[in-house]
Amino acid sequence: MLGLDSLQRSTFRHGVHPPEWKEDTRGSPIRQFPFAPLLAIPLLQHAGRPAIPCVREGEHVVRGQRIADQDGDMSVPMHAPATAVVKHIAAMPSISGRMIEGIYLEPVPASTQEAREGEPCLVDAASADEIIAAIQNAGIVGLGGAAFPTHVKLRVRDGAHADTLIINGAECEPYLTTDHRVMLEQREDVLLGIRYLMKATGADRTIIAIEANKGDAADHLREALPADGDVSVEILQVKYPQGAEKMLISALLGREVPSGGLPIDVRALCVNVATAAEIGRLLPHGRGIEERVITVTGPAVKNKGNYRIAIGTPLRFLLESVGVEEGVGRVFLGGPMMGAAASSLDISITKGTSGVVAFSEEETRASRVPEYPCIRCGYCLDACPMQLNPSQLGLLARKEEHDRMAEEFRLMDCFECGSCSFVCPSHIPLVQRFRIAKAAVRKAASAS
Ligand code: SF4
Ligand code: SF4
Repeated sequence: MLGLDSLQRSTFRHGVHPPEWKEDTRGSPIRQFPFAPLLAIPLLQHAGRPAIPCVREGEHVVRGQRIADQDGDMSVPMHAPATAVVKHIAAMPSISGRMIEGIYLEPVPASTQEAREGEPCLVDAASADEIIAAIQNAGIVGLGGAAFPTHVKLRVRDGAHADTLIINGAECEPYLTTDHRVMLEQREDVLLGIRYLMKATGADRTIIAIEANKGDAADHLREALPADGDVSVEILQVKYPQGAEKMLISALLGREVPSGGLPIDVRALCVNVATAAEIGRLLPHGRGIEERVITVTGPAVKNKGNYRIAIGTPLRFLLESVGVEEGVGRVFLGGPMMGAAASSLDISITKGTSGVVAFSEEETRASRVPEYPCIRCGYCLDACPMQLNPSQLGLLARKEEHDRMAEEFRLMDCFECGSCSFVCPSHIPLVQRFRIAKAAVRKAASAS
């Protein structure tokens, strides 16, 4: 049992307390979701370069078969989520609203859907480089939402060393219970994944970080920790955005990642717990990632739950299958704080989709409140975990003074957590403005 002192220590400065909204799904065991009649697999689902198709239209593919190769190091391959026929290789809508190239697969109804296995990568036999290569070959990216290629994150620069690997099971985003269920139901995969990650990175110890609202998952993992004491479970305060990398490092290690820096600059690496579980599940069988666990919830969803869903499942099919109330309004991929509103129901579930949260039209309308001028209440300053001045940044954003925002007010340190918007009594869409401003700064930098 943690004392008050320990609870006070295990958090970061500032942050907010949005309602959790997790009670509808936290007790729902993971269920397998049916295949859609047509799967749409975008070739770019991760940070970096799109994958390159290695199958032809009309070809028959087996579940788990590689259907697209990585394009260089900052890229990952794609694997067939179902035994299927390649219908088209063509443009498809993406979450950003842009059309991007992808592979349409038509699952074969009579197939057993047994997944193809490849060359196993065994933790005791493989070298660090072999594990990192196997993680790339499995197409694994950060499943917490960032979709950053995991093998790139693990390959630390020469001279750097991560003394601590943090496994992120905080899941601070409202509504989402994916990581919670993975910790309860895939404990062996999580712990095996940690062994692979520790060997790949040479980390001296691992901390599994869990918010205090998931005590059952913490107890469950603690019962099976290795006896050598290199892996521990730490309980964190329930506070948003506790699961952000910099906040985790601050809360657990008391180290501050410098502005523009990375966790490795303070000898830490963070990997999402669902990513660790997939490493432990897939590598011993030489398999690639072609499905993932997702929380499907929100006031407009009838059959809320946690589902293992094929990558490429169209959002429209998903919502029709779980049933939605008459008139679905806004749908978030990820949670409502850091997730993105779906631009259309024709986009697909990708590797980075940790949840689908649907609101009714009525609720969506009610959330569209008028914006008022800044009253300089300072709530946003108290909320910002990066100690930025969102009020001042907001005023400059209106005037499109992007350079000043970046140079004088550390705009690029904003990681778009939305805490400032959440607390603003004037309903100023601060985080939306910061996203636009950051994109403008990046565009200007790449043009110069
Ligand atoms: S919370 Fe909103 S109203 Fe208050 S200072 Fe910040 S931007 Fe202004
Ligand atoms: S969105 Fe950016 S400015 Fe606003 S609270 Fe989060 S980090 Fe701070």
